[in-house]
Amino acid sequence: MISKKLEKAINDQITAELWSSQLYLQMSLFLKHEGWEGSAHWMGMQAGEEREHALSMANYLIKRGGEVKLAKIDEVPCGWDNLLEVFKAVYKHECHVSELIDELVDLASAEKDKATQDFLWGFVREQVEEEATASGIVDSLKRAGENNYIVVDRELGSRK
Ligand code: MG
Repeated sequence: MISKKLEKAINDQITAELWSSQLYLQMSLFLKHEGWEGSAHWMGMQAGEEREHALSMANYLIKRGGEVKLAKIDEVPCGWDNLLEVFKAVYKHECHVSELIDELVDLASAEKDKATQDFLWGFVREQVEEEATASGIVDSLKRAGENNYIVVDRELGSRK
């Protein structure tokens, strides 16, 4: 059985993951509107992944005897200057999510909940990948330069 403190913290993280999903969906639609089809596709998949994270946490909570309570999702930002700014915002957001996951691990550790710590290590590893991927795309766009963003956009369109 999971502690009430951890139940609340994981529910908050579920809300944060759903907010991330909403943010990436908004970015995907913005990019589509701007004609960046490949990036819009990539971001749409990213939105789906964040929803999967929320569901994975919800299922874990239920398995441990906790109750899932979906909360209100706050409005997400909309409108970025260019493709590079969108991916810079993704990178910044993923760094923030990494901090949230780290805080959850600290709490699980303070609560002496080994199973939750074990569950969360998967997300700690996931964040390493998320940060590296976003940072890699930012680097690619910088290297390509605005006139060649299309090359990076095409590559992003091949995400499966
Ligand atoms: Mg996530």
